[in-house]
Amino acid sequence: MVVELISVGTELLLGNIVNTNAAWLAEQCAALGLSCYYQTVVGDNEERLSGILETGLGRSDVLILSGGLGPTQDDLTKETAARVCGKRLVEDAHSLARIESYFKQRGLHMTDNNRKQALVPEGAIVVDNDNGTAPGIILEKDGKRIILLPGPPNELLPMFEKSIAPYLLSLNPDGAAVIYSRTVKICGLGESGVESLITDLEALKNPTVAPYAKTGEVHLRVTARAADEKSAKKLVKPVVKELEDRFGRAVYTTKNGVTLEEAVAKLLEKNGLTAATVESCTGGLLAGRLVNVSGVSKVFKTGFVTYSNKAKRKLVGVRKETLEKYGAVSPQTAQEMAVGGAKAAGADVAVSVTGIAGPDGGSEEKPVGLVYMACFVRGNVWVEKFRFNGNRAKVRESSVAAALTLMRRCILEVFK
Ligand code: ATP
Repeated sequence: MVVELISVGTELLLGNIVNTNAAWLAEQCAALGLSCYYQTVVGDNEERLSGILETGLGRSDVLILSGGLGPTQDDLTKETAARVCGKRLVEDAHSLARIESYFKQRGLHMTDNNRKQALVPEGAIVVDNDNGTAPGIILEKDGKRIILLPGPPNELLPMFEKSIAPYLLSLNPDGAAVIYSRTVKICGLGESGVESLITDLEALKNPTVAPYAKTGEVHLRVTARAADEKSAKKLVKPVVKELEDRFGRAVYTTKNGVTLEEAVAKLLEKNGLTAATVESCTGGLLAGRLVNVSGVSKVFKTGFVTYSNKAKRKLVGVRKETLEKYGAVSPQTAQEMAVGGAKAAGADVAVSVTGIAGPDGGSEEKPVGLVYMACFVRGNVWVEKFRFNGNRAKVRESSVAAALTLMRRCILEVFK
């Protein structure tokens, strides 16, 4: 089955908003095993949208549209789709009642144009919107489907997961009723390195294996379609196992929803360790990531933000001579930050980050993106040099992911 994504909105064409809906929907369709050959962005213009719909119906089985279902004049997706399918709009009592109750619950006044959102093409399937007023709509034309979804991601995402994905599965000729996926999360390896090791698995049809690159991580999503959950799990399990075998310790979790910081916190807890962070260029971002984990106070003692040389000396005891001789961005300073941080905090583990986030401050010898990190684990110290790409925010974000990865690796070295 071939799906096509059509994103409606002049704001998208002008670049005022980023088309995150299309990226997300494309991932979801791939996970459902559906082929997507075309994506289009079209403005709020009836003629051009009609043309896109006609073209889409000629080359795809299902068109998924997002946006333009709102109550205002320029929202014309529904009207245009209805016209293309030769349907007139009729008021849907169920949707109207839901819209009325949406306004009532929030103590908001409902205007006449909100009523417009309860108009649906005759004979269409109406999909409830649990987070907004515009219902989703499924239309049929000559065996092809047009699915209309609201633009706001907080409405579209849950609607797709709850209603549209099962609907698409129900259309699938292979009789699959459920879709089940698990994500194998890998840290410390680049996307191309990971992909080169899974080319054979990427060719699988059921389950599928799809890589997603994140900052400092690569996620491999293994997705199966089957008649029931048990069978789907059975298909996924050996592939997850195979990925674990191939990537070994670089896999920090195969459980859905677990983050890198959670994996690090868990590892600290499992080994009865406490930790501290000592940050220069990341300025507290690393501590912030760790504090994403609820209950991390059991293992995370403190975070030092030692941005100035003075703070490095005063808070974690970096020696003046070290700073003078090697500079703040050096392996020697990183090492003293980690060792001193562990001592000052009375922690078993301390990780330090010192680097040049840019855009200023780089030199030929020490360019922007150069970052040194050290990790102290009960008397052992590792020092690492990194060279990150991107702007200041990206360098800092990459540093945080690398610091968590380093922490994890060093703890695993000591506590096998
Ligand atoms: P509403 O009922 O809120 O008017 P709608 O279905 O008419 O919703 P639009 O008016 O097209 O949707 O878009 C509403 C908002 O949703 C946009 O301002 C934008 O914030 C977000 N949005 C729309 N399309 C996309 C998209 N493709 N990707 C990400 N966000 C989007």
